[in-house]
Amino acid sequence: MALTFEVITLFPGMVRGVFSESIISRALKAELIQVNFTDPRDFTTDNHRSVDDKPYGGGPGMVLKPEPFFKAVESIDERVTIPPEKTRRLLFTPQGRPLKQKDFRNLAQAECLYLLCGHYEGFDERIREGLGFEEVSIGDYVLTGGEIPAMTVIDGVTRLLPGALGNEESIADESFESGLLEYPQYTRPFDFRGMKVPEVLLSGNHAEIEKWRRKESLRRTQSRREDLLNDSSE
Ligand code: SAM
Repeated sequence: MALTFEVITLFPGMVRGVFSESIISRALKAELIQVNFTDPRDFTTDNHRSVDDKPYGGGPGMVLKPEPFFKAVESIDERVTIPPEKTRRLLFTPQGRPLKQKDFRNLAQAECLYLLCGHYEGFDERIREGLGFEEVSIGDYVLTGGEIPAMTVIDGVTRLLPGALGNEESIADESFESGLLEYPQYTRPFDFRGMKVPEVLLSGNHAEIEKWRRKESLRRTQSRREDLLNDSSE
């Protein structure tokens, strides 16, 4: 069963890019994933097809109107046949819960992901309250829209699907999977401008290589992300 991304965006062209190259494009061709785009602008009723308006109470920027967004989501609900327990609905906002690797792993279990992208000043509060989506963030910074966060989820989740990567083993050792950062990696040449590959990696002694990698992984996590070592939720 393919994982279907239902992307709700005013700028589908931005998100399409992630499906056109590399691993995600191959996953799409292999039908591990599917994608549908829904543009709230197609659900407007006025001549200007307006999806935003000035904020009540004054202030800069434009706020996204509830109606086109509710209608866009309702149109997907009518079309989609995947049961609600296999569906996750995400609304992107810098005020949401920050996504972590373990969230991507959980999301990869779903069969359908709604990805609701804001823009401009963000959503009218009633979109947040009334649709009841999970509110998620990709980090403590503000982007122009939810399209890059949507691409982040599409990319991070797709690569976890069985068959998406050539070599599934590579995931297990990767940063955050075990709560640690990954150990340093090297490829040929052995000596690059005087910088040499650690001898142990050429030794052929798998137990010693494992020991070295574990030690480096811990050392690296300690020096760069000590918070991960204290995070019992990982
Ligand atoms: N006025 C909002 C605030 O201060 O919380 C920010 C709105 S932002 C300019 C426009 C849209 O980009 C948001 O509605 C959201 O969909 C998306 N966005 C921006 N930064 C994001 C982040 N770090 N994580 C998730 N979505 C983000």
